[in-house]
Amino acid sequence: MCYQVVERYSVCRCLYHRHAVDPCSAYGQRSHVVQEKTVLVGYACPNHTSRPVAYGSQAVGVLPDSGYGSTSTLRR
Ligand SMILES: [Zn+2]
Ligand SMILES: [Zn+2]
Repeated sequence: MCYQVVERYSVCRCLYHRHAVDPCSAYGQRSHVVQEKTVLVGYACPNHTSRPVAYGSQAVGVLPDSGYGSTSTLRR
């Protein structure tokens, strides 16, 4: 079984990079399948990054998730 590493953004699951197929001995035979191996990278793609971040600041994928989960601010 051949493997092809496909890197995807872990936040939005868009394609980041598709590597070349790593062929096995059965590569090219009929009904031979290539197993995709998804590797997640820890951030969103530029299309789904909500605000531009400065490159080089190494902000690792902790994105504000649309306001859920912070109950401490809901005080009356
Ligand atoms: Zn194979
Ligand atoms: Zn995306």
